[in-house]
Amino acid sequence: MRREFSAKTKVQAFERAGGKCENCGRKLYPGDINYDHRIPDGCGGEPTLDNCNVQCKSCHAVKTKSDRRDIARVARIVRRHIGAEHRGRPMPGSKRSGLRKRMDGTVERR
Ligand SMILES: [Zn+2]
Repeated sequence: MRREFSAKTKVQAFERAGGKCENCGRKLYPGDINYDHRIPDGCGGEPTLDNCNVQCKSCHAVKTKSDRRDIARVARIVRRHIGAEHRGRPMPGSKRSGLRKRMDGTVERR
């Protein structure tokens, strides 16, 4: 579930930013202002002033893209840790590889 910043936090963040993008320094206009989670909420980031980054539209678009990647990566690691997903390639020569090596050195499909 997404946890958005409160109106109070947004006002404080905007004042801290001085009306400029905290990433590229561009002056912000209404409709161009985004309040970004520094640590994505999907990765456990809290909707606090510390975790709030005031950004223009173009900076936010870039950040959102990398956040998606981070969130997908974290979800993958979690699935692996709880044993819900096997990693990468199967070990060569194991049953999961789908191949069998015979005594004479030839390899065949199982
Ligand atoms: Zn910017």
